[in-house]
Amino acid sequence: MEEMCEVAVARGIPEIGFAEHYDLHPDENQRDWLDLDRWAGELEACRARYAGRLTIRAGIEAGEPHLFADAVRDISTRYPFDYILGSLHWVGRENVFFPGYFVRTQEAAFRMYFEELEQVTRVGEFDILAHFDIPIRAGFQYHGSYDPSNFESLIRPILRNCIERQIAIEINTGSLRRSAAVLNPGPPILHWYAEMGGKHLTLGSDSHHPQHVGAGLDVALAAAKEAGLKHLTRFEGRAGRLMSLDAEPSV
Ligand SMILES: [Zn+2]
Repeated sequence: MEEMCEVAVARGIPEIGFAEHYDLHPDENQRDWLDLDRWAGELEACRARYAGRLTIRAGIEAGEPHLFADAVRDISTRYPFDYILGSLHWVGRENVFFPGYFVRTQEAAFRMYFEELEQVTRVGEFDILAHFDIPIRAGFQYHGSYDPSNFESLIRPILRNCIERQIAIEINTGSLRRSAAVLNPGPPILHWYAEMGGKHLTLGSDSHHPQHVGAGLDVALAAAKEAGLKHLTRFEGRAGRLMSLDAEPSV
């Protein structure tokens, strides 16, 4: 964490969040990785060390929050998190990062994922929807690029759920660094979101290594503006506050 903070300060990033994975799917091999006390201890040491130089938010990425609602609610009471990311990695017994998921057609792979994501956003209790169309990250090497327009009728209900329930959309830049080379979500989905009245947006570099802290946020910011979105949302104590994109220093 300290190395990550160091990079953030060096790159002029004013605020970052750490969101450890919290995965409960029975087939997930990272199930028991989260050590909340140790994680929180390290985070608080960084807050003290970087006070006045970097705002550090405490987040958690809850996998399949629609299936594990009680556990997500429980962990949210065990630490004063600033935000909970909700994410979908597993569709049934299949992981959308594994090659086996892509033995089906691209149409079927994305349809199954978006149908499940509609459930996630209808039921799950969380603040930010992570990496909206993540199957492209692993799926690119099997099916090539995809056009969100082919799935518009599945995607709009997800956006509507988010807007109605005040769930922010994360623009995740992790796939920019991979062969897919796209934002999750990219321009078409951001345009629909803006057009439907969506306002709540966060930027995430999905860094699992210090070198990636803040990577691609300039691209994400440009895409948000291009889509007509006017704000980023800042989370503190699980409350989101809009801040104007015009006022945001460039990242
Ligand atoms: Zn994830």
